[in-house]
Amino acid sequence: MSAPPLPVVVIGAGPIGLAAAAQLVSRGLTPLVLEAGDTIAVAVRAWAHVRMFSPWEFNVDSAARALLIAEGWRLPPAAVYPTGAELIAQYLAPLAASAALQSRIRTGARVIGVARRDLGRLRNGHDREASPFVLQVETASGIEEIEASAVIDCSGTWSAPNPAGSHGLPAPGEAAHAHRIAYGIPNVLGAARPRQAGRTTLVVGAGHSAMNAVLDLVELAKDVPGTRILWAFRRPLAAVNFGGGANDGLAERGALGARAMALIEEGAVTALAPFLIDRIGGEGGALAITGRQDGRSTTVMADEMIVATGFRPDLSFLREVRLSLDPAVEATPALAPLIDPNAHSCGTVRPHGEAELRQPDSGFYIAGMKSYGRAPTFLLATGHEQVRSIAAYLAGDIEAARRVELVLPETGVCSTDRSRQAATAPCCTPATPQGVCCDAKPDLPADAPCCAAPASAAPRPVLAPLSAQPRSGRCG
Ligand SMILES: Cc1cc2nc3c(=O)[nH]c(=O)nc-3n(C[C@H](O)[C@H](O)[C@H](O)COP(=O)(O)OP(=O)(O)OC[C@H]3O[C@@H](n4cnc5c(N)ncnc54)[C@H](O)[C@@H]3O)c2cc1C
Repeated sequence: MSAPPLPVVVIGAGPIGLAAAAQLVSRGLTPLVLEAGDTIAVAVRAWAHVRMFSPWEFNVDSAARALLIAEGWRLPPAAVYPTGAELIAQYLAPLAASAALQSRIRTGARVIGVARRDLGRLRNGHDREASPFVLQVETASGIEEIEASAVIDCSGTWSAPNPAGSHGLPAPGEAAHAHRIAYGIPNVLGAARPRQAGRTTLVVGAGHSAMNAVLDLVELAKDVPGTRILWAFRRPLAAVNFGGGANDGLAERGALGARAMALIEEGAVTALAPFLIDRIGGEGGALAITGRQDGRSTTVMADEMIVATGFRPDLSFLREVRLSLDPAVEATPALAPLIDPNAHSCGTVRPHGEAELRQPDSGFYIAGMKSYGRAPTFLLATGHEQVRSIAAYLAGDIEAARRVELVLPETGVCSTDRSRQAATAPCCTPATPQGVCCDAKPDLPADAPCCAAPASAAPRPVLAPLSAQPRSGRCG
């Protein structure tokens, strides 16, 4: 009797790991999802209180939907925006409990190492490509080894938040005062309320997480007098990206930025911009945060900090896999130019799949939030398309792997430096009329005035165009 085929191991049972499992099942492959936490979707649980900016229409994977519908599930109203908690209760939990996936998910299984069997990173061996992968997995009963025919790392970035320090390193004193610092997006209207109510909080960061935290703190301040909010940005306020407003294809995402900007203009929140954090100390029971404002050293006092400066991928358990990652973004070299915030500020990324995510060790992929490395603009819909394409490829359906089955909503904003351009310029699309100011996608010639990349953007190799992918418009 021949041995059963090795599973395709999926690392992480977040939304994209579970979608990957559903896609693999739909292709007749056998997934095994390894989840570090004692339940699924650990990261989403941490932001369960946050209302998503994408509605149900964009949040459900196609294979997962088919699998659930076969069990009598109904898609929640397409235009409704769920919270993280609702995403779990109404979609991810039923998906994990479905007959097809239930026995294919192991919780309490943290992957601590991945390699080719008997071959570390250095050795070519006779046939490296044919060697299965071995995953070392930490469980309650010790370290186990599991073999896999392919691996899709969907472990996200939630466990590796960026620090407050301006260099990308923790500021001196940051670790010592960690008990007063929350990373990510704490529930300040719920469990975290006692920490912020009637106190001064410094929020650091300019993304959607920081905006959500500030909006919640302003709600808290209405209830509890003495609640003060300081908001620190790396850049001058004129260069901060508050989103595409009404031009955003996701209305809630656009509205979030517009509301956050209005709070500064109304004075409900004190902006420190630019403010580069150099040191965090303690003084009289409060935090003393020293930073540079226009070259001058300034210290601000706060009781608490919320650091929402983004996330970075944990690559530590991938040391023995041959990876090719962009040195700045830490995404694959094919994907990085599409999402690098240095080169362009379009949050809108053309759909991409197996070809762009392929690693030198064939059969190994990083998908989902982690595939974006340090870039901030990942959407679930993008991840669904990634894992659909990877599963098709692993099943040998190359044509389906190359096909694009997704149209992403535009962010509605490319240029964020309002001092550089007259106003937030929309992204170039095929419909953009000649001569209208719009920001180029990186695969466009940068010969029109509004298409020029910022001078600081490093040149990158030109991405080979995939014929099946939709072209973005031309500028100028
Ligand atoms: C506050 C917030 C709001 C967001 N709102 C939206 C939105 O409205 N719309 C949208 O499209 N996107 C949104 N996103 C972005 C993105 O879709 C989410 O971050 C999403 O959770 C990413 O899914 P993922 O499966 O890639 O990673 P995660 O959700 O982070 O899941 C990763 C899983 O892997 C597990 N894991 C980690 N390390 C290991 C290991 N070594 N071994 C085994 N398991 C491991 C984790 O425990 C976790 O369960 C939001 C993100 C945040 C933070």
